[in-house]
Amino acid sequence: MRRSDARNCGAADHQGAELLVLAPMALEARAIRAGAPWSRVEKIGMGPRRARAAARFTHHPSQRPALIAGVCGALDPQLEPGDVVLASELRTDTKTLPCPDPAILAGVLRRGGLRVHVGPIASSSGLVFGERRRELALAGALAVDMESAAIVRAAPGVPTAVVRVISDTAYSPFASLNTATGGVRALLTLHKIGPALRQWADLVGPRRVLLAAPRSFCAGVERAIDIVELALQRYPRPVYVRRQIVHNAHVVADLQRQGAVFVEELDQVPDGTTVVLSAHGVAPAVRAEAARRGLNVIDATCPLVAKVHSEARRFTARGDTVLLIGHAGHDEVEGTMGEAPGKILLVENAADAERVSAEDPEHVSFLMQTTLAVDDAMDTVDVLRRRFPSIESSATDDICYATTNRQQAVRAIAAESDVMMVLGSANSSNSVRLVEVAERLGVRAHLVDDATDILPEWLDGASTIGITAGASAPPHLVDEVIETLRALGPVDVVQRAVAAEDVTFSLPKGVAG
Ligand code: SF4
Repeated sequence: MRRSDARNCGAADHQGAELLVLAPMALEARAIRAGAPWSRVEKIGMGPRRARAAARFTHHPSQRPALIAGVCGALDPQLEPGDVVLASELRTDTKTLPCPDPAILAGVLRRGGLRVHVGPIASSSGLVFGERRRELALAGALAVDMESAAIVRAAPGVPTAVVRVISDTAYSPFASLNTATGGVRALLTLHKIGPALRQWADLVGPRRVLLAAPRSFCAGVERAIDIVELALQRYPRPVYVRRQIVHNAHVVADLQRQGAVFVEELDQVPDGTTVVLSAHGVAPAVRAEAARRGLNVIDATCPLVAKVHSEARRFTARGDTVLLIGHAGHDEVEGTMGEAPGKILLVENAADAERVSAEDPEHVSFLMQTTLAVDDAMDTVDVLRRRFPSIESSATDDICYATTNRQQAVRAIAAESDVMMVLGSANSSNSVRLVEVAERLGVRAHLVDDATDILPEWLDGASTIGITAGASAPPHLVDEVIETLRALGPVDVVQRAVAAEDVTFSLPKGVAG
């Protein structure tokens, strides 16, 4: 959704301004006011006609964050009284009005202990009964109200968010707000949301986003995902994948939805089935076991990781002690060390490099994990070169182009950023390194799996947000973070590119052609 569209149900420039809450009924207004006495709560009356008139409350010399809050009826049978529903869009009989992405408000409310759902709200011109309710539910609407769309149409750009609390369920619609348990639970929730609203309202305001480029998927990750998708099309299901194909929770969940089954080891793969080996590479022992079992193996090892394996074989075959600079426990390190068990020693950092010993100091070589922080790795290499003057290395860099470019891109935006967000999973080495690169430059940096991980305190006082994504993080996650920020006010997006990438790798046997 573009900024101009989002303003249909949208944000404005009003950082630090008073929060305006429009609530249909007196009971709702009272509950919200009791929990958020610092806000201005206006009772607007029930139904679309009164809601349209409520647009007058939004005319204020200094625009302010505004939201519609009140109770609603559940359409989705999973929703219970007291659950909060944040509108991603408002659906009328004739039109859909998009709303700014409420992910940050959702996160704040959830951290306050509330059950929060984000999705479409049907905003009807009257009470909705029987078959129509079922139709709206089938179309994906979570809940139904009668005022939100009317306010949005009468006052474009307001509100900043629509917050509704379930009072009656899909099974027992139209319980009385005064007497029914559901109504009481809804009012209690409206009372409880005050602190979260305070935290959220304080963040509303304009921002600048600096986008690092290159970011997100590299050629090795794109190839690995393609391999699994092609294997799912070509071979009988299930298709197994040993370890996470790439280290990203969203990628793995998406492939699981398509039918891939992720396992840790080959003993979880039944005989006669297809198994894909992850982009991080495996030890020869794993391939040998797969061959012995007669499994249909498709190898998604990134060619740049395979190159490091090949160097490991070359160096150890000539009698070198190989020092592998990398992180203990990482799948890639485990696979590379498996090329010559006992002949490859792990060196995690410069301190390790000071301690490590080789049988013959004249015959030593070093290799690197492909996703290291370039600066850290060079510190370690400096120590190794000092201690083993004749040490040899690969003819080309082991740290891959994608890792280097993404770190360089972070350097290009860090100094101007008040805070940085790196899209990536916690087990993604290259994503974690991007956070470290930013922190080394003195910038607050946070690793987030997606927009819902953003904590409001990170944005407090931050007017320029640097954003990047690790090589395993899907590009759409970056777009979603930007949309989430747009929900807090206008966002000016500026991209800084340090390199153009046009690398592609061919597909392996089993899925090529
Ligand atoms: S980060 Fe580098 S080594 Fe890893 S998959 Fe991507 S291109 Fe290959």
